[in-house]
Amino acid sequence: MSVLDDNIAKANGYLSRFRESGLSNQIAGQAVLAAGGQTFQTTSPIDDTVVAEVARSGGDDIAAAAAAAKEAFPAWRDLGGNKRKQILHNIADAITDRAEEIAFCECVDTGQAVRFMAKAALRGAENFRFFADRAPSARDGQMLPSPTLMNVTTRVPIGPVGVITPWNTPFMLSTWKIAPALAAGCTIVHKPAELAPISARILVEIAEDAGLPPGVWNTVNGYGEDAGRALTEHPDIKAIAFVGESQTGSAIMAQGAPSLKRVHFELGGKNPVIIFDDADLDRALDAAIFMIYSLNGERCTSSSRLLVQDTIADHIEERLIERVNKIKVGHPLDPDTEIGPLIHKSHVDKVAGYFRLAQEGGATIAAGGEMIGERGCFVRPTLFTGASNDMRIAREEIFGPVLTVIRFSSERDAIQIANDTQYGLTAYVWTNDLTRSLRVTQQLEAGMIWVNSENVRHLPTPFGGVKASGIGRDGGDWSFDFYMEQKHIGFATGQHSIPRLGC
Ligand code: NAD
Repeated sequence: MSVLDDNIAKANGYLSRFRESGLSNQIAGQAVLAAGGQTFQTTSPIDDTVVAEVARSGGDDIAAAAAAAKEAFPAWRDLGGNKRKQILHNIADAITDRAEEIAFCECVDTGQAVRFMAKAALRGAENFRFFADRAPSARDGQMLPSPTLMNVTTRVPIGPVGVITPWNTPFMLSTWKIAPALAAGCTIVHKPAELAPISARILVEIAEDAGLPPGVWNTVNGYGEDAGRALTEHPDIKAIAFVGESQTGSAIMAQGAPSLKRVHFELGGKNPVIIFDDADLDRALDAAIFMIYSLNGERCTSSSRLLVQDTIADHIEERLIERVNKIKVGHPLDPDTEIGPLIHKSHVDKVAGYFRLAQEGGATIAAGGEMIGERGCFVRPTLFTGASNDMRIAREEIFGPVLTVIRFSSERDAIQIANDTQYGLTAYVWTNDLTRSLRVTQQLEAGMIWVNSENVRHLPTPFGGVKASGIGRDGGDWSFDFYMEQKHIGFATGQHSIPRLGC
């Protein structure tokens, strides 16, 4: 039996319960079907087969979940920080124990390659550990004495919150949003993406098995326009943490406006990598290729625009074509696979639409540019050259394994092109000139910038974008700023004079 066959057999074992019994919601500690009895299907992009019938929830289900989260809130809020810390560590341990199951289910549900998903599952555990350790100090504040008052600040959890996640690396992203909310003392209603709901179910089970009280974390499946919308409109949900497309972010902001929802948005990107001709070109190429072609290019921080100085552009393009043509596309459970199938047929159509747009716009398809096979959602890794920044392939988020190369002549030119986009999530700069890197990073419009590096996440640093790429920051203490309210209390230290009226 090959490793792939063995992995397929294991994945089938892990998924059989969902294939047989479907995927329910989890509300107040109970597995429940959608109130209306409706379901939808989640399919595998490997071969278009049905993975599970999923509860198709609506307003009634969200109302039940919000009620459970509201009821569970006071006890969870008032539990000591050390107790919350222990439960979150238990969750992290259980994620580690079930990492293979999580990774294999994620591969089948999303098409992501196991070489990346195995690490993503463990990253999920790390997210829980990181915020677990901060739970005991989450409420700490300052003492700001004035001449007449001892002023103290503290933070309190905002209340039940809604978490809405996308289909790309759904497990890791869910832990990234949910772990700090729980550490802060909030309760949760989670609405996972309809295209990849399996790992969210495993995650909530893990949490409850690890000792999380019923109702603290509720998972409601369904479409964005039904369950998602109802969650953003519910008056008892105090804040919405959302990861997804910029357009959906706008819709959520409008939906949440009547109930004055606090929102935190992690949205799309069209991130530039700038390679100057003095850079370490081998390392720059490795990083640029990794950042756009890993995770099927379905990654918000992907380096989708490669800005290359014209003096080295021919050389870089030649080497890129050779490397991109060698990237291994295959079954996501094959450990050798570098790119698996894209999430869904509709997404393949979107990505393939840009092959046509590239040619119509006058760019060249230097590698890839086609779909592979009759079944499944496989697309060849693709490289566009001869592009300019005004073409749609350079302006719109393609969200697939597709890189657009744009040439520049000067530093000024590079900065202008990099910033000429509605997005501002990440940017990557490659140069060995220190003062140039300082100048350029000061001028780039992006929430996160790496110099001579790919995206290397460090959990205490702020994660988030500017412009249409997001509002707010995650990571370190920034996550707690979103999930908690600041409170000020002033204690009079003496008999200061109080203005007297009516005497
Ligand atoms: P999407 O916006 O289509 O969907 C995301 C989630 O929102 C899903 O759960 C969906 O059901 C829900 N939703 C849709 N309409 C809704 C509505 N009206 N009200 C409430 N909820 C609604 O995004 P997607 O296609 O699942 O994910 C890909 C996008 O996510 C890309 O744009 C990518 O860049 C972005 N993303 C950003 C980050 C980041 O950190 N900035 C990380 C990952 C993904």
